Amino acid sequence: MDKKWTTEIVSEIYNKPLMELLYEAATVHRKHHNPLEVQISTLLSIKTGGCPEDCGYCPQAARYHTDIETNDLMSVSQVKAQALRAKSNGSSRLCMGAAWRNIQNNEEFDRVLEMVKTVNDLELEVCCTLGMMTEDQAKRLADAGLYAYNHNLDSSEDHYKEIISTREYDDRLKTISNANKAGISVCSGGIIGMGETDLDRCRMLVTLANMNPQPKSVPINALVAVAGTPLEEQEPVPIWDMARMVATTRIVIPEAVVRLSAGRTDMSDEGQALCFMAGASSIFAGDKLLTTPNPDINEDKRLFKVLGLKPKAPFVDGDQPLSKDGYKECLSTKGNVKWKRPSHKIKRNEAAKQKAKITRQGT
Ligand code: SF4
Repeated sequence: MDKKWTTEIVSEIYNKPLMELLYEAATVHRKHHNPLEVQISTLLSIKTGGCPEDCGYCPQAARYHTDIETNDLMSVSQVKAQALRAKSNGSSRLCMGAAWRNIQNNEEFDRVLEMVKTVNDLELEVCCTLGMMTEDQAKRLADAGLYAYNHNLDSSEDHYKEIISTREYDDRLKTISNANKAGISVCSGGIIGMGETDLDRCRMLVTLANMNPQPKSVPINALVAVAGTPLEEQEPVPIWDMARMVATTRIVIPEAVVRLSAGRTDMSDEGQALCFMAGASSIFAGDKLLTTPNPDINEDKRLFKVLGLKPKAPFVDGDQPLSKDGYKECLSTKGNVKWKRPSHKIKRNEAAKQKAKITRQGT
């Protein structure tokens, strides 16, 4: 990747007349991908809720009062059953998400490694999203057969500070770099509709597009404003913004799978078709995206038929990893890493935390 993307260049693309932007993105899409193939992933929450972080959009943060059901870490056999179901529904990838701040070297991580091995043996691409991760932990996941690691930038570095106060943007980048060093394919994108400016959106894309290598997968999420979270009152994202964001991502990160992620339940068939035209090449299947709603698989099958789309097979963009026994051994001799906690306070997050406290006292 020789080209250096700047905010000026990306903003110029993002602000093009929409019809021009879509045409350009569709052309780039056709040059690098089969536009009729869409990769289907199933996102499985393997440990739900009770998270110590303060992400302003997330119903799983323990400090806010939302009505999600919390669950401890699943067993390997539960995950296997879900993986088989996902495969029979046409998914080529299973993404396992745990509501953790970071991976810890303990029995739970050992169990996740077994899950990775089990799902890889089923010939599905395995992705995990487990929070911050050290180089040693990335190596063990790679040895277990992990194909991809998801770690979203969420927004621009500036706007990130308005959304999350419990971890640093730089540590996000460090985790992504650790995944790369272990040879794991990186999945990283963001969420729009969190009160950011167009410039914030472009700046996030600049950071992603200038990564070397660029991420292989870029999820673009529209905020699902969940009651009880600090962002509960955000206005829904207009479909035009979503299409614009997808198209710009497609142009600046041409080889990536651009993932039309959260927020699809609020999109019409026509809106989703526009995003596929703009270069979206992946969706999440299943009626839940971790904890937020997602279209039913039969709805997706119907839409694929109408649009003439077909699911992409696994391992088209990279070989299936070989599981190696090395994953069983903990490589760290230093115990668990303490990731930094920035000290700034976010008013909106503090207010939601306070409100949750009062609600809990009253029940
Ligand atoms: S987004 Fe992840 S890290 Fe943030 S609160 Fe939710 S589960 Fe925790």
